[in-house]
Amino acid sequence: MITTIPDDIGLCLSSALLDWFSLHKRPLPWREHYTPYEVWISEVMLQQTQMERGVAYFQRWMRRFPDIRSVAEAGEEEILRYWEGLGYYRRARFLHQAAKAVVERHGGELPSSREGLAALPGLGAYTVDAVLSIAFGQDVVPVDANVERVFSRLLDIDIPIRRKAAAELVRNEARHLLPPGRARDYAQALMEFGALVCGKAPKCAECPLAAWCEARRLGVERERPVKEQASETIPVTSAHGILLCEKHVLLFQRPASGLWGNMWEFPGLDSVAGDVQSALLAAWKKAGLAAEVLAPLGTVSHGYTNHRLTAHFFRLALDEALAMQDISEKLGDIPHRFVPWEKLGELAMPAHHRKMAERYFLRRKRAHAEQLYL
Ligand code: SF4
Repeated sequence: MITTIPDDIGLCLSSALLDWFSLHKRPLPWREHYTPYEVWISEVMLQQTQMERGVAYFQRWMRRFPDIRSVAEAGEEEILRYWEGLGYYRRARFLHQAAKAVVERHGGELPSSREGLAALPGLGAYTVDAVLSIAFGQDVVPVDANVERVFSRLLDIDIPIRRKAAAELVRNEARHLLPPGRARDYAQALMEFGALVCGKAPKCAECPLAAWCEARRLGVERERPVKEQASETIPVTSAHGILLCEKHVLLFQRPASGLWGNMWEFPGLDSVAGDVQSALLAAWKKAGLAAEVLAPLGTVSHGYTNHRLTAHFFRLALDEALAMQDISEKLGDIPHRFVPWEKLGELAMPAHHRKMAERYFLRRKRAHAEQLYL
């Protein structure tokens, strides 16, 4: 393992990297003007998201929210709706809160100081460094998984990359190689290079940095970065009921804090052990609604953090014929609403509920068109 790159080699490395970037950088929408707002949104959206998908979300977002003020003035539900499918909804909520704070504290313009940015909700060290370097051109280097991978190979870091010593080494050397005044290009070049050349399957034969790559010299590039033992995937089973009443669907709203906070879903249980149907009906009864299963609607699989969820859905019918208002009275304080089934697409829902809504209600739409009854 190399702990510091000599200055002369560092100069060669960074200039080869910048040359590569000027030839190969992708034409991404936020690279047209580098406005702080666009850079910020792109950085938050691209975390854990593939570039192509991120660009599509970014463009849709910018059409609806062209500036920070429009984000601040929107309701949380609409923000979540535009975020739906990207996952990690806490990021969207923080982004919304941060936009409000920027309007209140900074007149709608992102601050250009580390302290100002770091004081905004949800802006961690990475996002702050990304905005400072890419939007404001300040001499700092954001370190993401791409940058970690590149330096773990250049230096042949043989300890797990997320350990403090390895993280510090990457941060220090990434900063050491930064040519003063070139942070915008250098930061993006490192990330782009990690994504396009020094990826999980590195393209060493076409790599402009190969002459200085220690892992390549030793033939261990595919063993870098070293990962900690992967944590186990936890299987989870959930159960949910779909109730139609006067052509409306009953939805519950999740609590504001915790997983999928404030989103709307078909009422049920996040975690079930044993008989899924009985547990679901018991949960509905506890909420005030005695029901029976009309038909099982199948399952939806969904992965989140280190969980693998299998969600079971059932079409339910109440034991007694009740109007929407009667049902609302029985539910009391439980946050809920009735939504016309063809308007389900307008609400923010967790991905597994969205998938089932699309599957079941699209089918229903087709059945209606063909005069069938579901
Ligand atoms: S030689 Fe291979 S492993 Fe080393 S930096 Fe280039 S692409 Fe990455």
